This record gives sequence, C-alpha cells and structure tokens, in this order.
Amino acid sequence: MARVAVVTGGTRGIGAAISRSLQEEGYRVAAVYARDDAAAEAFHKESGVAVYKWDVGDFQQCQDGIARIEADIGPVEILVNNAGITRDATLHRMASEQWQDVLDTNLGSCFNMCRSVIEAMRAGKFGRIVNIGSINGQAGQYGQVNYAAAKSGIHGFTKALAQEGAKAGITVNAVAPGYVDTDMVRAVPENVLEKIIAGIPVGRLGTADDIARGVVFLTADNAGFVTGSTLSINGGQ
Ligand code: NDP
Repeated sequence: MARVAVVTGGTRGIGAAISRSLQEEGYRVAAVYARDDAAAEAFHKESGVAVYKWDVGDFQQCQDGIARIEADIGPVEILVNNAGITRDATLHRMASEQWQDVLDTNLGSCFNMCRSVIEAMRAGKFGRIVNIGSINGQAGQYGQVNYAAAKSGIHGFTKALAQEGAKAGITVNAVAPGYVDTDMVRAVPENVLEKIIAGIPVGRLGTADDIARGVVFLTADNAGFVTGSTLSINGGQ
C-alpha cells in the first residue's frame, strides 16, 4: 500500500506543488489548509488530492485532524510542515498578536503536527518529516523578527528531532527556500521585489516546483541517511 503523506498549507503556493509532486511519486496525499475554502476546493477538483481544514497552530485540532486522516486513509508516514504566514512590522510597531500568530502558525505547528504523528512513526519504524524554513530564518530580515525567529526555530527543532528519530527510521530535515513566486511574495511592494530579484544570483524568483523537487528527494524511502540537514533552495543567495 502506498505511503500516506500529509502536507500542511498543501492547497496553495509551495505546498500545492509539494502535494502534487508527492502524489506523482505515488503517495496518498492529504493537504491541510486553514481558511480559503474556494482555493482548497479548486485544488482538490484539479488534482484529486484529499483536503482537510484545520488550524495547525492549535494542538487539539492537529490531534483530531490527524486522527481523521488516519481513519480515512491510513497511518501518516510522511509529514511536510509547510503552512506559514507573515505578519510583518518592525519590532517597535509590532503588536503581540502579530508575534504570537506567526510563532503559533509557523513554529508551534511543527510541534503540534510532529507530536500528533510521531508515536505511530516510531511504532512503524519509518518516518519522513520535512519542515519548511526560510532564507529569512537563516539571515534575518528587516520587519520580520517574528517570522525570522519562528523560521530559525524550525532549524533547531529539525536538528533535535532528527537525533531522536534516527534509531527509529525517522528522518527529519528542513528545506530553506529563498524567494519563491507565490501569493506570499506577490504581496511584497513591486519596488521592493525588484530589489530582491536583483540580489538573487540566478536572476529570478524560484518556482514552487523548485522547492517541491527538494522535498521529494528528502521524503524518498532511499533517503534514510539524510537527516538533520537543511537544504537551501534559493538561486544562489
Ligand atoms: P501561501 O501563502 O501561498 O500559502 C500558505 C498555505 O498555508 C495556504 O494553504 C494556507 O491555507 C496555509 N495555512 C496558513 N495558515 C495556516 C494554519 N494556521 N493552518 C493550516 N494551514 C494554514 O504560502 P507560500 O506557498 O508562499 O509559503 C509556504 C511556506 O514556505 C511557508 O512556510 C513560508 O513561510 C515558506 N517560505 C515561502 C517563501 C516564498 O518566497 N514564498 C520563501 C521562504 C519560505 P489557506 O489557503 O486556507 O489560507
């Protein structure tokens, strides 16, 4: 039976490309989203990928959601923690909600989701976890102390859980994308985006498929010796 893969934020942007690519690899894929029913429904119709709606920043919703997926499709052996948001502001203008929302959605979700699947992965002696970090977690970014803190937290989380999972056949890796052409980046003002692209050595934004390719590599059965690593996919930045 094909392995079951869960992709958070798997209905739009980078996550949608990851869901599609994993499905093409032969996995049974469930994509989780939070709000945009229309986008999720359109993605489901076009791809056939099963979609589930819950807030990955909420522990109980993750526990209940994973239980539903297990009942519908089977035990989760591949988890891609991709859901993420930005709530940009310089620190002196940042509201505590902007801090908390980004920490809960981008980093708390990694705990909530991994905690919900890890016992079954350990029992099955197999697991592939990929956490989507960011170049801005590696380098910092003006106006993003919340986002940069959450994303750099993902890198430490990944390395620690990799050590815990190694003997149980569970690999845990991070992918750190550079700037990718999705709704998140299209929200950046045009003059700022031009400057960003000028700083990318390959001279263009990444595509969602550029990132999905790395995730497919890390989730493969024969990638068992790759764990605790961060794959930067950023056009040379
Ligand atoms: P998008 O904004 O295009 O899509 C985000 C996805 O995450 C949507 O499916 C959204 O659901 C889902 N999501 C958001 N919040 C929640 C939540 N609380 N619970 C469940 N699902 C949620 O993002 P991108 O594709 O641009 O980014 C994907 C990941 O890659 C993020 O982690 C981002 O930080 C990271 N990244 C992106 C870069 C870029 O240049 N785009 C660069 C570096 C990293 P819904 O449709 O319901 O809103």
